[in-house]
Amino acid sequence: MDYFPFFARLHGIRCLVVGGGEVAARKVKRLLQAGADITILAPEIHADLVQLAADRALNLRHERFSPECVTEYQLIIAATSDFGVNREVAEAARDAQRFCNVVDDRELSTVIVPAVIDRSPLLIAVTTGGNSPVLATRIRQELEALYPPAIARLAAFTGEWRAAVQEKIEGTAERRRFWQSTLDGHIADLVIAGRHADACAAMESAIDSHAPVHGEAWIVGAGPGDPELLTLKAARLLGAAEVVVHDRLVAPAILEMARRDAQFISVGKQAGKPSIQQQEINDLLVQLVRAGKRVCRLKGGDPFIFGRGGEEIEALEAAGLPWQVVPGITAASGCAAAAGLPLTHRNISRAVILATAQGADDYQPDWNGLARAGQTVVFYMAVSQLPVISRELMRAGRAATCPAMLIENGSTAQERRIRGTLQTLPQMAISAGVISPALLIIGEVVDLASSQESIQEAAAPASLWSRAAARRADGQ
Ligand code: SAH
Repeated sequence: MDYFPFFARLHGIRCLVVGGGEVAARKVKRLLQAGADITILAPEIHADLVQLAADRALNLRHERFSPECVTEYQLIIAATSDFGVNREVAEAARDAQRFCNVVDDRELSTVIVPAVIDRSPLLIAVTTGGNSPVLATRIRQELEALYPPAIARLAAFTGEWRAAVQEKIEGTAERRRFWQSTLDGHIADLVIAGRHADACAAMESAIDSHAPVHGEAWIVGAGPGDPELLTLKAARLLGAAEVVVHDRLVAPAILEMARRDAQFISVGKQAGKPSIQQQEINDLLVQLVRAGKRVCRLKGGDPFIFGRGGEEIEALEAAGLPWQVVPGITAASGCAAAAGLPLTHRNISRAVILATAQGADDYQPDWNGLARAGQTVVFYMAVSQLPVISRELMRAGRAATCPAMLIENGSTAQERRIRGTLQTLPQMAISAGVISPALLIIGEVVDLASSQESIQEAAAPASLWSRAAARRADGQ
């Protein structure tokens, strides 16, 4: 580590800014926000700085820099446009063992100034040690989005209540859990919404009753695979969970966002393989939450779209346990976006149906309804059902030439898209060796998809066909 990060309290600390131009003015403004006792030293000082000095009681020294003057100050900022002067300032500071920042010169600086997200009292500082200011700015922008201005209220609120919590709730671990549940729950929502009085009342009763912190289940959608498609709320709750109960479809990069000490339980269901039953998952959630755990039930896509989230909630509800649902980007949206294919489009498709042909033994989709023209139909869990879907939709009247696309591993690095028609797609899928998870999109909107990298009937890349041929030769 080349730099030791710390936040310095500058109230009343004497700081010397050498330079009287624009750069110096920028530095002075930031130092003023931190309440520093500032002296500006330069033979000529810009009128704006002189005005600022008059308004804010800054000290001005109209003189050339000389090394002896650094000893009167604790922090020295060299902000001239003259490299020679800046170096002289840095050397004088080094000799006098004073911290020194030289603007835009990390070699001469002993302290550097990070990019800052100011949600005072919360401050987040980012630096790349001067290696990549653009990356630091990008990270700062991401953090700005992650921690909206209202988070400042939450930081201040917890500060107000710290002493009371310290006094009433014994034990570091117990207090930590209390704060975690406060930050993730209803009280934090009240604070962020600006309802300070309500939040205080809720806080008082939470401390008084000091009900030991309850477990809770968060049924969270993890999106179709790309970690960037996770919602901010999903990321926050994933980071707060003690136990993560996850599907097979959830990407490892997303699981890495959980706490290091979280317990992970995989309850992956995979088509055609023996797997844990839904009832067992429901029982597991109930048992964990009852034991006081904060559980993130992480599911691919959206929990309420072929996600069986409803059944898990029923089980929690029946046991009288608290839960929250966080929506996710469903595979249909994720895959359509990746393919550049609008699910509805003016004058082409006025409805979109999310469907599956998979179900309990006696399940029969309403093929006539699904075959109607002028709508887009998206089939989940489509790989093994593709021949049936194709046959039944054509039988019910949808044109054999209707465009259709299969998207395997949509939104991930392994994504493949196969484009054909209702009639041709089943054979193309077999040839290409498509595996689950894959999504089937049927409708004229498929013609609008970007043709980039998709496997098409007319122009099937040789490599793909030869791969399929090789697989056949291998007897697969
Ligand atoms: N709740 C999920 C769906 C779970 S059902 C959601 O909202 O997306 C599982 C099916 O979803 C898979 O068989 C497949 O059809 C589809 N699916 C999920 N992720 C996918 C992906 N990345 N690419 C293509 N299809 C996907």
